[in-house]
Amino acid sequence: MSNQIPNSALTIGIDIGGTKVLGGVVDSLGQILSTARRDTPKSGGDELYLQISEVISELLNNHKVAGIGVSCAGIISSDRRTVISAPNISNWKAVSLGDRLEKEFSLPIVIENDANAAMWAEYKFGAAKDFNPVMFFIIGTGMGGGFVVDGKLYRGAFGIGAEFGHMKIQSGGILCGCGAKGCIEQYASGSALMRYAKEGIAVDANTGQDLLNFGDGTLNGLTGTVLTKAAQANNKIAISAFNTCADWLGSAIASYTLLLDPEAIIIGGGVVDAGELFLRPVREAMAKYMPFADTHPSPKIIAAKFGNNAGLVGAAVLVRG
Ligand SMILES: [Zn+2]
Repeated sequence: MSNQIPNSALTIGIDIGGTKVLGGVVDSLGQILSTARRDTPKSGGDELYLQISEVISELLNNHKVAGIGVSCAGIISSDRRTVISAPNISNWKAVSLGDRLEKEFSLPIVIENDANAAMWAEYKFGAAKDFNPVMFFIIGTGMGGGFVVDGKLYRGAFGIGAEFGHMKIQSGGILCGCGAKGCIEQYASGSALMRYAKEGIAVDANTGQDLLNFGDGTLNGLTGTVLTKAAQANNKIAISAFNTCADWLGSAIASYTLLLDPEAIIIGGGVVDAGELFLRPVREAMAKYMPFADTHPSPKIIAAKFGNNAGLVGAAVLVRG
């Protein structure tokens, strides 16, 4: 179906994550009018399809919509119809999700990678607006990437373009969820941050306990929020964990800059809760590692505007074509 959707019409955005399926009715300005959610079933597959279908039906009960955009963590075919693989969801490989949803709901459907969808929300309504080209990193547990050039999301030939989290920075390095070793995601992400903090705690028990006391006092209670609070209160291990993460990211950004020459780089996801505490050392590392330093302007490094709703909003807007 063609996606000639008028501005006055509403669309649905669905965000399929490892733990939940979140749906929302969204207007042409990116405002969410209502939401519905279900848990992502552990079994994935058909059970998951059923939950997605229920979320959509619930939203359709109260709103007339003109299309459905779906954001899904994983590799999506370049025609935006099929989930090729989704490492965090069981039995979710080679799923003809676009065809199945279109058949059930008779509406235009677009499936998009979650980071691309989030990037699109930032480009249309958020921090990426007015920059060209502009890169996007979404750094939660892992690291997703998006790239908009001349007003279009860059997907590459086979749909895996702009997967910035899987650039190799260490030959023979840490094994990554993608199956390769030494990806930047393993060195600059929420999970890397936790690893650095745990390494620090193992070396300095006293400072480590001070850090853990920002949570429930135990290693099990160590979360991104705890780490951020501790860093804001000047805990040395927490600050060092953020700095190590920022150093890797800044060094990778220096390489990406030579490859893509972005005007700005937007950073979203959980790490941005730490704000300048994280972004400042990223900028410093970028400057430190930049090739041909001082011969060209460096990209601006800016925090994303959208939080957890970015994928939902971006997907809903993408189906407008
Ligand atoms: Zn990887």
